[in-house]
Amino acid sequence: MQKRSPARRMTYREWKIRKCLRLARNWVLFLAACGGAVALMATGILWLLPKAHALVAGPVPFTARTYDSSSYVFDAADDRLVVVNANLALEEEPAPELAVADDATGEQLEAEAASAYRSMAEAAQADGVELNLVTGWQDADARTAAYEARLTAYSAENSRLSAEEAADHTASLQPAASTSEQGTGYCADILSPDCTEKTAAFAETRAYEWLTAYAAEYGFILRWPEDRQSATGMVYAPWHWRYVGVENACAIRESGLALEEFLALERAKS
Ligand SMILES: [Zn+2]
Repeated sequence: MQKRSPARRMTYREWKIRKCLRLARNWVLFLAACGGAVALMATGILWLLPKAHALVAGPVPFTARTYDSSSYVFDAADDRLVVVNANLALEEEPAPELAVADDATGEQLEAEAASAYRSMAEAAQADGVELNLVTGWQDADARTAAYEARLTAYSAENSRLSAEEAADHTASLQPAASTSEQGTGYCADILSPDCTEKTAAFAETRAYEWLTAYAAEYGFILRWPEDRQSATGMVYAPWHWRYVGVENACAIRESGLALEEFLALERAKS
């Protein structure tokens, strides 16, 4: 039997070198871990910072660009400026050329208005705002049904009113069929996923804020503004927008007037 030679003992020098190498390796590992931790923290802070800022400062406000109306030319014969209201009833049923403006709801508008609406909804989407066209063009039957439904609801809520009073009040909320602009195809009732009912609550949404700032650039105006109720005879409806073409919309917006007042002023000028 041959005896196994015992493992050779390390010399002191070898032991010293091995110790130094181990120390160096540990330092490298330690520094790499520190670097990794710092990089991770920096990334986290950079990711969190804008979110924290948005949380503190709130969402980016939508601000209207100013419009120079000095070169605006009013055209009294512009069909897009047609007015239908309690004093100006439809003489005959409009027959606009229609196009689907919102694929999700299938609602239609007059063809030019439909194309403008599509551009507007796309732009809003790019700003993180979803617009839903809940009511576009309506034929006479649909307009009658909308008025009747409103009248029934209003009468039920206000049972002490006479039939005549209830009808008067209802007409300031929802025009009767012959006095409803919705037949022209130029009216767009717009809501958003966070407000799906035609109520004043729509005025609190980001969609309304966006429309107030930018709709004119796509040819749409708020048809029955809150501060022009005496001029329109209609109760403020933040969802009810009207296509008039970009130049007209920007000029009307800049004037701060309701459509009726703006037209009276421009006609008086010419
Ligand atoms: Zn409407």
